[in-house]
Amino acid sequence: MVARIIDGRSVAAEVRKQAAEEAKLLWEEHGVRPGLAAILVGNDPASEVYVGLKQKACEEAAFTFRRITLPEEASEEEVMEQIHKLNTDEHIHGVMVQLPLPPHLNENKIIDTLSPEKDVDGLHPVNMGRLLLGDEGITPCTPTGIITLLEREGVALRGKHVVIVNRSKIVGRPLMVMMINRDATVTVCHSKTVNLAGHTRAADILVVAVGKPRFITEDMVREGAVVVDVGINRVEGRIVGDVDFDMVKEKAAAITPVPGGVGPMTVAMLLMNVLKAAKRSVEK
Ligand code: NDP
Repeated sequence: MVARIIDGRSVAAEVRKQAAEEAKLLWEEHGVRPGLAAILVGNDPASEVYVGLKQKACEEAAFTFRRITLPEEASEEEVMEQIHKLNTDEHIHGVMVQLPLPPHLNENKIIDTLSPEKDVDGLHPVNMGRLLLGDEGITPCTPTGIITLLEREGVALRGKHVVIVNRSKIVGRPLMVMMINRDATVTVCHSKTVNLAGHTRAADILVVAVGKPRFITEDMVREGAVVVDVGINRVEGRIVGDVDFDMVKEKAAAITPVPGGVGPMTVAMLLMNVLKAAKRSVEK
């Protein structure tokens, strides 16, 4: 079997087009332009790239975009002060803090200060809690992108065994809940999992976000599985995922490439979350 390559770029382009169209309507009907503010602390090159991609996507969809850059040594209070200002800024509907933050800053404490209505990364405890209770208002962008990609590709989730190799707050935890909400059966693996390959081989749908190139080899994948590679690794100047793509594609039914798979979907879902927050601000 040779896998179908799932084209995240084209699905993301469709989602972004939809976001732009809906934003235009919002502007015409209510005079509201969706606005995103991104807070970047320090100058991590990867974070700069991600914020740049978000800015470009916002500009293309005619959203307002504001970048707030703080120095590496900024204190928690300084970051929170920016968040407080943005929480009450009526032109800004979504506020995101680019992660990871420098180690002296407490991520959870900072995210707690976001207004849940403007938390377009879906990481505030209120939004995470609602998700856990089965209420998917604003959900984290990467898991939402994965689910959207699979749904648009016609991959059924009900009754499927989904194995997720990751338990982080931005990928594995929310994805686990979103999969359960869609009637999948879920196994979550991490660095302390015993017999990882035994679990991954049992997957109908395997989602991997470890951050290690060629971590998932072909012997770890069941014939006919759907493989979603979330990993982003820089190897000799190139971006690669966590899956040994060339080998695994010979065995899987469908696979997401890196680049061009989950990454573009993450950015597209952020636009959708900003749009959702902007629409809600009108409904109030
Ligand atoms: P984390 O480091 O928080 O998560 C990595 C996960 O992999 C952890 O749950 C860790 O387990 C697990 N892990 C590490 N080593 C092993 C192992 N040997 N066996 C099994 N599990 C293991 O990273 P993130 O969740 O932030 O990101 C993960 C990857 O996804 C990165 O490459 C990142 O760049 C990429 N990413 C891509 C996005 C996209 O849009 N495409 C968006 C977000 C992330 P433990 O919890 O025990 O440490």
